[in-house]
Amino acid sequence: MLPGVKGMGMSADLFRERRVLWMPLEVPWQPPTAALRVCCETMGAALRFSCDQHADPFECADALIVYNEIFDEYGIPVHDGGATYVLIAHCPWCAAKLPESQRDRWFDEVDAVAGDDDPTPKRFLSAAWRTGDQTGGAQSE
Ligand SMILES: [Zn+2]
Ligand SMILES: [Zn+2]
Repeated sequence: MLPGVKGMGMSADLFRERRVLWMPLEVPWQPPTAALRVCCETMGAALRFSCDQHADPFECADALIVYNEIFDEYGIPVHDGGATYVLIAHCPWCAAKLPESQRDRWFDEVDAVAGDDDPTPKRFLSAAWRTGDQTGGAQSE
């Protein structure tokens, strides 16, 4: 047993700094779009979550990694009953450096344009706010 690790009671304290909630709350988890370029095949496979019994990776014990496209961040689901995950900076399989989370910048930019009681502006509910893609992706032409 590792020193200082006794039972499961302290799990809420583990990784307190890097442990985050799936946000924005208005946007439920969804698999990454085809636009996402992953570091390696194993990461790609891990992100292609599909399970007959669970609608999202936070409910499924088999889910190893989640990707949040809005914040451009990767994490390991905590499976504590909520939609929380621990941010990771490198791929567990190929060790590639993963993108820096844009979570803090997202909050700064939303705060700058919307008040506390305002709904989150639409472009902040997709990757559009950081990619500059105003169409939201699909454009018929
Ligand atoms: Zn499952
Ligand atoms: Zn990788």
